[in-house]
Formats: sequence, C-alpha cells, structure tokens
Amino acid sequence: MTPGFPYSTTRPLFGQVAIVTGASRGIGRSIAISLARAGAYVVVNYRQSKAAADDVVAQIHQMGSRAIAVQADVTEPADVDSLVAAAAELGVPRILVNNAGIGSSQLLMDTTLEEWESLMKSNLTAPFLCAKAVLPHMVRAEYGRIINISSIWGLSGGSFEVAYSASKGGLIAFTKALAKEVARSGITVNAVAPGAIETDMLWNLSPEEKRELAEETPVGRLGHPDDVAHAVLFLASPSASYVTGQVISPNGGLVT
Ligand code: NDP
Repeated sequence: MTPGFPYSTTRPLFGQVAIVTGASRGIGRSIAISLARAGAYVVVNYRQSKAAADDVVAQIHQMGSRAIAVQADVTEPADVDSLVAAAAELGVPRILVNNAGIGSSQLLMDTTLEEWESLMKSNLTAPFLCAKAVLPHMVRAEYGRIINISSIWGLSGGSFEVAYSASKGGLIAFTKALAKEVARSGITVNAVAPGAIETDMLWNLSPEEKRELAEETPVGRLGHPDDVAHAVLFLASPSASYVTGQVISPNGGLVT
C-alpha cells in the first residue's frame, strides 16, 4: 500500500501526523522526539505535566517540525475524543502510539479491586479508546500505524506485578486481534514490549536493585527510552507495511 504523501528517505515520516499518548516524560517523550526527527508532526499528549509536554513541543519546533501539546486523560472517553479532534490542527492522524500507562508492584493478595481496575483502565482500556477514535480516519485514508507499548511482563509474567502483567498481556492479545481486523485497510497494529527502562516508572527500585537488574540483563545495562523509540520508529515507517500483529521486545536479552 503506497502511503499517499510525500516520501523522503531521510525523513520517512515527513508531514505524517502522529499522536503519542503520555509523551511528556520517559519513553513517550523519546518516541515523540524520534518521530519528529523523522519528519512527523506530533501531538504530544499528557495528563498533568504541562511544562514537560511544552518542553517536548519546543524541542520539536527547534528541529523544524510541528507539534502541539494536548492535555487529555486517555482513560476518559470524552478526553480521547478531544485529543483526536485537536490533532486536526496538524492534519489527519496516520500514526497512534499508545504509550501512556501506569505501573504497580505488589503481591496479588494485597492488590485491591480499585488498583486492579485502575491498571486495566490505564493500560488496556485507554489503548482501546484511542484506537477506536483514530481508526475511522485511518480506514478512510486506507493507511495507518498503531503501536502499543506493552512490557516484557506481558510476555513472560512478572512476580509482584500480576495485575500489570495481565494488563500488558491483554494489550498484546488486543494488538494481534486488531491487526487481523484492519489489515485489509492498510493499517498495521504492532506491540513493543520493553524490558527495564530508566524512567520515573522505576522509582520504586533502589540504586542497588537497579545495579543488580542491569547485571542480570545480558547486555549489562538498563534500557534507555531511545531503545524503545527506535523500535517504534521502525514500526511507524511506511516501509514496515508487511509487519503486523507482531511484538518487538527491546529488553537487552532479559527475556528471549
Ligand atoms: P513514566 O511514568 O515515565 O511516564 C508515563 C507517561 O504517561 C507520562 O507522560 C504521563 O503523563 C502519562 N500518563 C499516564 N497516565 C496517563 C493518562 N491516563 N492519560 C494521559 N497520559 C498519561 O512511564 P514510562 O515512560 O516508563 O512508561 C511508558 C510506557 O512504557 C508505559 O505504558 C509503561 O507501562 C511501559 N513500559 C515501561 C517500562 C519501564 O521500565 N519504564 C518497561 C516496560 C513497559 P504525565 O506526565 O502528565 O503524568
């Protein structure tokens, strides 16, 4: 399927509108900047970190690309509709990266129903709402790239992270099923399942625990948000049109 917009090998995403949820910090920030470097116009979504989101937008403007910061809680249907409507300022959305998510670390026996439901809402319902909101635009354009940020725990299951693992495993099943449903419309749907990446999400690990985790990882270090962004960039590119329903796992060899 030809993309139907100007194509450049140096900026393969030139002029394509990308919505990145949770792009104010961490992995989402790196994804937004990487997509913009490849020429995309980026909708930088955030929930509360306005100053950080504005900073991402400023960086993208400095690169000579376009971006807007849009506040929206992606667990709320009305907010998701406003987010997708706001993207129209840049054009028709061609790329959606469902990155926003929350973590949790505790025994299943100590997990309350409220905590379980909150994880499912952020990590599984939000991608459903965002995909549903952008799909009509992508189907009309007969082109789209949806990339869901899962986790290695969604592949292998993590002790003390049962609820988180279930939400991220669900996201992988969502990815595979939706990929089949929309493939004939020129839309690919893939997941990226990172290992331990140095962001605020690792706040509960002590420096010693981080050192141990880095040593346990075959490549000998924790991941950088850019390690995830590189995988997203590949899946977002027009040339990845034969890759769909797949999971790419930048994890330093921790899970094989
Ligand atoms: P961070 O906690 O560093 O950043 C989370 C981002 O998500 C922030 O931009 C935050 O916005 C946003 N966000 C959270 N909830 C919502 C919401 N309801 N609506 C809109 N935005 C929201 O997390 P990471 O960068 O580490 O994680 C990004 C993704 O990668 C997550 O899905 C996570 O599960 C996944 N992941 C992370 C790993 C890691 O080791 N770090 C490993 C595997 C997967 P705001 O700043 O406004 O609060």
